[in-house]
Amino acid sequence: MKKIITRFAPSPTGYIHIGNVRSAIYPYLAARQSGGTFILRIEDTDQARYVKGATELIMDTLKWLGLEWDEGPEIGGPHAPYFQTERKDLYLEWAKKLIADGRAYADPTDPNTIQSYRDEDNAKKVPYLYRNHRPENSPEWQPGMPIRFKSDPKPRKWHDEVMGNLSAGPEVQDDIVLIKKDGLPTYNFAHIVDDFLMNVNMVARGVEYLSSTPNYLALYEAFGIEQPLLVSLPHILAPQGNKKLGKRDGAKSVTEYRDDGVLPEAMLNYLACLGWNDGTEQEIYTKSELIEKFSLDRIQNSGARYDEVKLLWMNGQWIRKLVDEQGIDAFYERTVSFWPKSAKSYDDSYKKRVLAIIYDRLKTLSDLREMTGYFFEDPKFDIEQLLTNKFVKKLSEQELASLLETVTAKLSSIDDWSEENLKNALNELLKTTGKKPAELFSLIRISVSFAPFSPALDLTLNVLGKEVTMSRLGKVKNALLLDQQ
Ligand code: GLU
Repeated sequence: MKKIITRFAPSPTGYIHIGNVRSAIYPYLAARQSGGTFILRIEDTDQARYVKGATELIMDTLKWLGLEWDEGPEIGGPHAPYFQTERKDLYLEWAKKLIADGRAYADPTDPNTIQSYRDEDNAKKVPYLYRNHRPENSPEWQPGMPIRFKSDPKPRKWHDEVMGNLSAGPEVQDDIVLIKKDGLPTYNFAHIVDDFLMNVNMVARGVEYLSSTPNYLALYEAFGIEQPLLVSLPHILAPQGNKKLGKRDGAKSVTEYRDDGVLPEAMLNYLACLGWNDGTEQEIYTKSELIEKFSLDRIQNSGARYDEVKLLWMNGQWIRKLVDEQGIDAFYERTVSFWPKSAKSYDDSYKKRVLAIIYDRLKTLSDLREMTGYFFEDPKFDIEQLLTNKFVKKLSEQELASLLETVTAKLSSIDDWSEENLKNALNELLKTTGKKPAELFSLIRISVSFAPFSPALDLTLNVLGKEVTMSRLGKVKNALLLDQQ
């Protein structure tokens, strides 16, 4: 297998969101699978869109997802520097080479004149192409002067690993700007030079670059560079409508999901499988399985729809998988910042007991905040919630009070508050009261938790302990008795 040398080349214009991180994941998988190289290159030449701190956010996201890079910021490498602004002189040198070869020119035309060309073409209803207005004689390049490519428009054919065999006519090829007025290169130019110098042999990026590819092919040709494998990744679509998922549709940053308690394993799994599959029904993949099974030719060529429900389902699967494989003690370490405030004064061993009975209901780790409060402090007492429960409301208040009397008598007689004894006691209560489990257990569950869900009742009571259970049941019983007076 050919070693894939590839890169993730984000522009530091903000956070990485769900919609754009696949251009990191797929190249990473391809590089790892082939024993190749995954490079991180920061394309920071667009000063107007530069956002301070964005590079750190990008690196943080990659590290969290486990997409470690072999060359790039923080670690360096044989092609350093990896920030394009630090490579500025190099692009100018390369542009000058093209000038010397007659394939580029310094362009002194001022922006107003350029605008008038545009207006003229619009008025004539002909497509605006700068090459039709190319200055006849270009001056010697001086700082402050853009450099443009001297295009060689002709029909072009190429292969895209996702989109298949493609072709484009001369009408999409133009004298693109290589070096801007500010001396910095355009993306269109800088990435060609960098990919070549960094030996990149596979370029995977969003499909939005497809329309510019004929210009890139012309540049490869002008430099005599071998074209890398081209991989156009279709957009991720917003949950509704037929549009690309973007920050405006509320596409959250990848790390926001981390803060909401999504596991990196689940996020990587979900995003890798959004628009790629290995042809089987498998849904849960570890990173090593993804590395092993990934193939470019199974990337879908149409947009995949983002589905948060599926992501959260997958996260739930991963929570169970990790607990099963690593045990509660190891998994607990990942949960420490997600407990409710009220859990602060409790020791780890108690929280681990709570985790052990609730983990299989979690979709995210932050569900712990919502779902475990009653293990740490008395829940908000709300007799209405009890009385309006769909099972409990079938019973009269009098019946309820006497049921609670029977329940408390039975439970208080348990000396050893073990899961087993609790289970037996609850089963006996079903027999002696003749109630259905849904009725009797809902009554007890709500009385001790006032929560919409809880783990199995015997386990919940066991973790709560006898004292807390009896005191909460007593409180409800008293309230019902008072109500009847
Ligand atoms: N800097 C470009 C972007 O952030 C990268 C495109 C590419 O991977 O070449 O969209």
